[in-house]
Amino acid sequence: MTNSMEKPAVTKVEVGQVTVGGANFVVIAGPCSVESEEHFLITGQAAKRSGANILRGGIFKLRTSPDSFQGLGKDGLAIAKRVRQELAMPIVCEITDPRQIGDFHDIVDMFQVGSRNMYNYSLLKELGQTKKPVMLKRGFSALIEEWILAAKYVTDGGNPNVILCERGIRSFEKVTRNTLDLAAVAYIKQNTSFPVIVDPSHATGVRNLILPMALASAAAGADGLLIEIHPDPDNALSDGFQALDFKQFDQLMDKLSLILDTLNRPLAPTAVV
Ligand code: PEP
Ligand code: MN
Repeated sequence: MTNSMEKPAVTKVEVGQVTVGGANFVVIAGPCSVESEEHFLITGQAAKRSGANILRGGIFKLRTSPDSFQGLGKDGLAIAKRVRQELAMPIVCEITDPRQIGDFHDIVDMFQVGSRNMYNYSLLKELGQTKKPVMLKRGFSALIEEWILAAKYVTDGGNPNVILCERGIRSFEKVTRNTLDLAAVAYIKQNTSFPVIVDPSHATGVRNLILPMALASAAAGADGLLIEIHPDPDNALSDGFQALDFKQFDQLMDKLSLILDTLNRPLAPTAVV
């Protein structure tokens, strides 16, 4: 970590044909969990139609309760593979265990390391042995410095392709699921070479707060966003309370484009894999 006044050069990370950390702003969107092939396909189509660049979808879910839906597992990977091909869109899925790397490697364009695994150094070391991009979410109680050091476990292994994702931290506040730390975003931009994106869905856990926090994230200098969307949020198998429906997501993208115009930072083109 440096504290000099000089900004370190940003590492540009290629996710499929989408560059994160470059001149363009990038939007990742999709459901919290892949629920079925049809569900993932229609959600991906809506994401793409509204201008999202990368599709997300959880397959192995780390849920607070063991009784909650745990994801489709390996069946979900096969679905992700087909939907990725059909939509020609890069895809990011959360990896929860180093033993999954082989199964994930040829399907996803980027590994997601979730908040609960930010301190899983054996997973980070293994991901450092690949060249595939890693989106490292901030641990919900992690200091910025611990988060940056976690990223270093991946880069020290020889994989420079790390994107940081601010997803809110636990505070005393209960109205929101987490507390979005936008100062962390500005700090990362000023003091490290990592691209940084913001996940206002998990950071707020409140559907109506996602749009304003998405706009604020862009203004704070984030390189992109991660947004959870669902065709029928009230019946989602996970995190429905914080999912935008397709119309709400489209409205978010419209408003975002106004901010991006002002910032002179165009949205990345909808790219192919
Ligand atoms: C997710 O992206 O669905 C997720 C579980 O996020 P986090 O690890 O930030 O809680
Ligand atoms: Mn989620």
